[in-house]
Amino acid sequence: MWWAATMPRDNVGTQRNAPLPRAITRLSIVADAPLFAGLATHCYGVATGDGVLIVDPPSQRAAALDQIEAAATAPIRAIVVTHTHPDHIGGVAALHERTGAPVYGHPAAQPHLAPHLPFHALHEGDQFAGWQIWQTPGHRADSITLIDEQERIAIVGDLVVGSGTVVINPPEGDLTDYLTSLGRLRAASLRMLLPGHGPVVVDPAALLDYYIAHRLQREGKVLAALGATPATVEALLPLAYDDSDPALYPLAARSLLAHLLKLEAEGRAVRHEAGWSTVL
Ligand SMILES: [Zn+2]
Repeated sequence: MWWAATMPRDNVGTQRNAPLPRAITRLSIVADAPLFAGLATHCYGVATGDGVLIVDPPSQRAAALDQIEAAATAPIRAIVVTHTHPDHIGGVAALHERTGAPVYGHPAAQPHLAPHLPFHALHEGDQFAGWQIWQTPGHRADSITLIDEQERIAIVGDLVVGSGTVVINPPEGDLTDYLTSLGRLRAASLRMLLPGHGPVVVDPAALLDYYIAHRLQREGKVLAALGATPATVEALLPLAYDDSDPALYPLAARSLLAHLLKLEAEGRAVRHEAGWSTVL
């Protein structure tokens, strides 16, 4: 399934090789089941007063775990999952076996992790090792973001990615929630976002404005494609995604459905057995 990003092309507001904050190390590791061949997931190591947090270990391969342990500047005390897509949690159980570190994440993340893992739920507003926790659904309902308010940086998982755009795949993805989460991040005046894929975001406002505008522009095209006669998603695709490579239509179909569900919830589109129409 389509769990992550993206068309691998760098976004506005990003910078390859931007220096990371002092307390943070980043490893790019190809997950055991990557979405696109060679598209790595970033695994962050965060130094705290009491050891290192590992965010999103992507792979259970011994070489990947060796790399994570070698890069840790202090004992690994905790494993944090930003959301439970396979390319972000592939190494969680194996890293726990090696280090004994407990696992932290959104309360809804636990059922998607191995049942024997010691798990601690992180809730909205929690302070965790100097980071504030936000629940930021949209890409997945169990998404969290870690915010360092003093440094004005955030570890965002797949809420945004440094390359391309994020797939919103219903029902686990929800476009209304997603736009709310983006808007919330936009209002936070951060100076750096550390995404799960692609380069560092050094101008969060520019990237988030672009992301939000991109979705609203697409929404306009979806609305324009709808008519009085119900049409299927497949029939609407070439209209609403006329700027996209047809090879990406399977992905675009999920995004289109996400748009239609948002419009339906807002009373701006109607679902029929034969497809989708405008409100008459
Ligand atoms: Zn994801």
